[in-house]
Amino acid sequence: MSDFLTASLVDALPLPILLVNRAERIVSANPAARLLFGRDIEGRAFVTVLRQPALGQALEEALQDDRPGRVRLRISSNGREMVAMATVSPLPPGEEIGLAEGGAVVAIEDVTALEEAEVMRRDFVANVSHELRTPLTALMGFVETLRGAAKDDPVARDRFLAIMEREAGRMNRLVGDLLSLSRVEAEERRRPTADVDISAVLKGAKQTLQPLAEARGVALIREGEEGVMRVKGDPDQLTQIFANLIENAIKYGGSGGEVRINVARIAHEPVLRGPALRVEVSDKGEGIESIHLPRLTERFYRVDTHRSREQGGTGLGLAIVKHIVARHRGRLKIESEKGKGSRFSVILPAS
Ligand code: ADP
Repeated sequence: MSDFLTASLVDALPLPILLVNRAERIVSANPAARLLFGRDIEGRAFVTVLRQPALGQALEEALQDDRPGRVRLRISSNGREMVAMATVSPLPPGEEIGLAEGGAVVAIEDVTALEEAEVMRRDFVANVSHELRTPLTALMGFVETLRGAAKDDPVARDRFLAIMEREAGRMNRLVGDLLSLSRVEAEERRRPTADVDISAVLKGAKQTLQPLAEARGVALIREGEEGVMRVKGDPDQLTQIFANLIENAIKYGGSGGEVRINVARIAHEPVLRGPALRVEVSDKGEGIESIHLPRLTERFYRVDTHRSREQGGTGLGLAIVKHIVARHRGRLKIESEKGKGSRFSVILPAS
């Protein structure tokens, strides 16, 4: 292969690649490697660029024993921590690529995102198991009690059955939310195509939650633009967004006595670059401290786990909202001030 061809091939690769000679000096680096380690790395001793004992050893084995190797590394570059896999492969002599006596090629693969995804997957499974186990343990305990101590006590039996019903309901909601989440995630790249009237969606969500609002003494107030307002969307999923937000506002912000649902048309939304509709669900309840806001849409994140459980929450509601909004190419904005209330805004491209 010609010098020119080798150089162009290596330069075209998106992986950072370093060619190292027998004296353990970097003889060439492709643009991806220069971006990672700096522009002036050619000619430098390898150890001054990547000071990692395990990699040094792999390089020695490649150069001296002709043995390839793979090493996991942590690299800090451009203010970012990265986890990488480095593959070290011996190279035969090649005058034209600056390796008259042979050398080695080191390819660096950024596996940060992969490892993060793996951690997230593990955390998710652990969280789901934990969330299911709590009600399951309660159910099993009560079955045992009903078989034994409470066998002939009709009052206790009724009370325990009521608790069992509540715990089974919790498991049912959790499984329902998990299924919703996985369905929304699976469809996230498929844009919804139906013409949906947001006014009708809000009317439906409001009707569904009216009984809960009344039970808590909360007034549900619809304000802002009225009439038909169309977006391209999935009607069930859009209903789910607003049902979740209104339910949260009643459950966590109900102490303010009212929940407002406001709709506004926006002629030009700068981020969505076009006309949009903004639906705000706001309450005058206790609000959320700002440190929690960025994490609120994470799965199972709650400000107060005990309180959420008491309210029958699964910790998945806002994660579902976030994914549905993303599927609709919209934006979700959360503003809140401790003691004053919260405002959840959904901005959707208007069709
Ligand atoms: P949950 O099932 O716990 O309600 P969500 O994902 O819907 O789960 O909400 C996550 C957390 O966000 C809740 O546990 C609660 O702490 C907080 N939260 C959501 N909406 C509000 C609100 N309107 N006011 C105060 N806190 C809220």
